[in-house]
Amino acid sequence: MPRTVLVQFDQLHREHGALREAVAGRERILLVESERMTTGRCWHIQRLWFMISAARHFAAALEAEGFEVDYRKAATTVDGISAHRAEFGEREIVTAEPSSRRLRASLEAAGVNFVPNDFFLTSRDEFQAWAASQETLVMENFYRRQRVRLGILVADGKPTGGAWNFDADNRLPPPKGHVYPRPLSFELDEIDRQVLAEIEGRRKVHPEDYWGYGPSGVWGTTRAAALAQLDDFLSNRFENFGPYEDAMPRDSWSVYHSLLSPYLNVGLLHASEVIEAVRVRFQQGGVSLASCEGFVRQVIGWREYINGIYWFFNENYRESNGLAANRKLLPLYWNPQSTEMNCARSVVEDLRERSWVHHIPRLMVLSNLALLTAVNPQEYLDWMRQTFIDASEWVMVPNVIGMGVHADNGQMMTKPYAGGGAYVNRMSNYCGGCRFDPKKRTGEDACPLTTLYWDFLDRNREGFARNHRIAQQVKGLDRLSDLPEVRVRAREVLAKLEAGEL
Ligand code: SF4
Repeated sequence: MPRTVLVQFDQLHREHGALREAVAGRERILLVESERMTTGRCWHIQRLWFMISAARHFAAALEAEGFEVDYRKAATTVDGISAHRAEFGEREIVTAEPSSRRLRASLEAAGVNFVPNDFFLTSRDEFQAWAASQETLVMENFYRRQRVRLGILVADGKPTGGAWNFDADNRLPPPKGHVYPRPLSFELDEIDRQVLAEIEGRRKVHPEDYWGYGPSGVWGTTRAAALAQLDDFLSNRFENFGPYEDAMPRDSWSVYHSLLSPYLNVGLLHASEVIEAVRVRFQQGGVSLASCEGFVRQVIGWREYINGIYWFFNENYRESNGLAANRKLLPLYWNPQSTEMNCARSVVEDLRERSWVHHIPRLMVLSNLALLTAVNPQEYLDWMRQTFIDASEWVMVPNVIGMGVHADNGQMMTKPYAGGGAYVNRMSNYCGGCRFDPKKRTGEDACPLTTLYWDFLDRNREGFARNHRIAQQVKGLDRLSDLPEVRVRAREVLAKLEAGEL
């Protein structure tokens, strides 16, 4: 039977997935730009633009290689497959296993055949076997096993440098008067401009479906751009990645981060080629072990762990709400001008500009605030999915439900990532320009994060007291002589944040 390779929009790699064995002239190629994927939600313009333009560039590259490519728009991916079959006759449709549960179910029902999803370094079965053998799903244990299994920064089963992690070296605050490397800038080509014009056209009719600014030049949409970004990271930022990976300086949105996650998550880069390039660069010298280890941890540890967790838990995991958090999403998440909190306003403004901020503003500003204010986890998850350029379903479900807002009752992380203004003050320079005082928990100028942090512990005191990882923080409540005033101030802060007045 004739065969068509369905290339999903997050599987844009010639040597992986169902394309690996494909031969020009033998298989047809199908890409479906589905309306379900692109309309009906309030997407960040750059997120949508990146996803569509990368797919169209990839389709053009396959055509240039000699493939017959059917790139079609349809209401859903399944409708696109039906239309393809109607035009080209009954045929086997093959694709790599989708990375979201919903798409997997609908493609399976449409009779699509799957090859294993090899866009990760760890198969779903491998992760299942590891997770099933563990008492708790501690990422550090998975990561060490990955180091040994993949032979990265290990010799004879022992970690290079005598330690598995160098977190203590990698938590420096932003240095004063520092000059950060400038990120690469990419010019829009004809395909990029065409995609943008289509989005702008739809935005005129449905402005409610779009958020954020158009392409700012920081993201490319081709394999060549992805490789250039990798090269730029290795040449200009890798060396200082580790020490400042948690820092949030106001004068640099990119710090020393690799900016590779959008490319990795649509398949324009594969984790194996990133790790190999990192290994070679590290061997050349001039990069500290702490920087190398910190980056390797992100790629072979966190990224693989998060994907494994997504498939390890069942479909109900996405709906978890263990802390019974039911507040509506605060207005500041869509409108940064509606808050005077310098940290939150700056981070959402950065997000609006580039559809990306690094992992610490995501975790310790945006998610921390959602956690402390008891925003509904699914509302917050939807917002994250729609606004971040790298927000695949498999990335965001565990990162939000398990890590960001602790909605899974600790199935993934053993404690909530809650913090007051002290953390933001130490790791950023937001507080210096803020009308609030990070040390104060009561009064008109009290930092909202600090007030809400203590209120959060107080509200959850009973449940958290049984958790040894956070019990110490809960005990701190006993030392607060002004706890009644904190509770009162917390009610005021919550009401004002809900109204977009603080
Ligand atoms: Fe954010 Fe509080 Fe610092 Fe202001 S004082 S920037 S609200 S942490």
